[in-house]
Amino acid sequence: MKKLFTMYTLFLLVSFSQANAADKEITIDVKTTRFTSKDKVKLTHAIEVLKTVMNSEEFKTALLEFKFNEQDDQGMTNIDIYNHLMTGAEVLNGEVNHVMDFDLKMYRSKNPWSKVKGYTKPDTNRIWIHSKFYRRKSWTPVDVAANMAHEWTHKMGFGHEYYHSDIRPFSVPYGVGSIVTKVANQLGFK
Ligand SMILES: [Zn+2]
Repeated sequence: MKKLFTMYTLFLLVSFSQANAADKEITIDVKTTRFTSKDKVKLTHAIEVLKTVMNSEEFKTALLEFKFNEQDDQGMTNIDIYNHLMTGAEVLNGEVNHVMDFDLKMYRSKNPWSKVKGYTKPDTNRIWIHSKFYRRKSWTPVDVAANMAHEWTHKMGFGHEYYHSDIRPFSVPYGVGSIVTKVANQLGFK
């Protein structure tokens, strides 16, 4: 009986590791404010994209191969960064729950020239999403997923330079955002 139990456990472990790139699948929990029903439809697609990408072998491979710049990587190696992200332990929550927690609030900038697609602040888990971009037809669920991933890495403790620079794309937030776009496209999402 004991032997059977051990074999069963082993079988479970093997099948689990084949199903997921990480030890434990990460899920997504989203709270929204000022999202219309149409906004929520796009968000539902984006969540599906993000969840699939985050748990894919392709995401892990792309992240491990990415050349992050040293200034923004908190002294972490690529596998450290990957493992940390997969814990879902946001700085303000601290709990390893394997959940990407989102508190999204739709806003519209008063500045008509604003190019900000989303932003957050260190003292809150809230992420503000700019409706001007979000509601564009050309702004696909993949774009939403990449933007969510970028903002969420800030919640996980990563930063980048404020202004555009040669190295900013190689910060963790911009890097992960571009990896999400690339892998989503690889997996057939539009
Ligand atoms: Zn950012």
